[in-house]
Amino acid sequence: MNVIEIKPNGFCDGVVRAIRILDVALNDANIQKPIYMFGSLVHNKHVVDMYKDRIIMINDNFDEEIKKINQGTVIFTAHGIKPSIINYAKEKGLNIIDTTCPKVAKIQKLIKQKLSDGYVVYVIGNKNHPEVLNYLGIGDRVKIYDGNLPKENKSFIVNQTTLIYDDVLKTYEQIKKSYDNVEIAMEVCNATKVRQQALSKYASKCDAIIVMGDKQSNNCTSLYNVACTYLPSYKIESKDELDKIPLSMYNTIGVTAGASTPRILIDEVIEELKKRP
Ligand code: SF4
Repeated sequence: MNVIEIKPNGFCDGVVRAIRILDVALNDANIQKPIYMFGSLVHNKHVVDMYKDRIIMINDNFDEEIKKINQGTVIFTAHGIKPSIINYAKEKGLNIIDTTCPKVAKIQKLIKQKLSDGYVVYVIGNKNHPEVLNYLGIGDRVKIYDGNLPKENKSFIVNQTTLIYDDVLKTYEQIKKSYDNVEIAMEVCNATKVRQQALSKYASKCDAIIVMGDKQSNNCTSLYNVACTYLPSYKIESKDELDKIPLSMYNTIGVTAGASTPRILIDEVIEELKKRP
């Protein structure tokens, strides 16, 4: 089988940075224990599993769970965390390791600034995703964008970093036509955008596309949804799922991967595909 690796793919700078920060901290023999992580470091089971023997994973009820911790280290993930949790950890004197991606931190700062300037802030995104939850947790005047904006308020609108770039652009164009009291910040991150845009360059050379990524990962889901607009596409987490794909129907398959997918899993899939007839 012909295999074309669609580039760029795989880990973004924010994921590499989060893993590096955590590895440095865990290699410090004096790190305060126990060590807790609030959510998944990045949305990839393979990555998170590397740490599960050394870290207590807290996956929900963050507001309640932080109150139960009286000593040790708390790790905040690349998706960021709402300010009240950080403040609580500081008040308790916990050791804080914050791996929030700088792109997310930039949006947090922007939202705080706009709130202090008197705006109501609207976020385009998945209201259950940790990145969006962290934005909503900044203040009562941060709300999910539901397709409507009040005409009378000063509104500021921003988006989750890992959405489909072209869709967000279209939404903003419509908003600009309908409202003149809205300030907009296009914040799909570059890593998400370039992985999506690479698909258009490679699609004409492929018969189908495999998108590698964890089910939890929003940027992988966006990448898959964009891939589906070009060619038959399949989303898998590892080579173990290759047999679910009707590979014999295709001569040339393109392989890409979201920003939280490790290199080793991508290489395994490419090697396995090359062995297929
Ligand atoms: Fe940061 Fe974008 Fe990577 Fe998310 S996908 S960690 S926002 S660079």
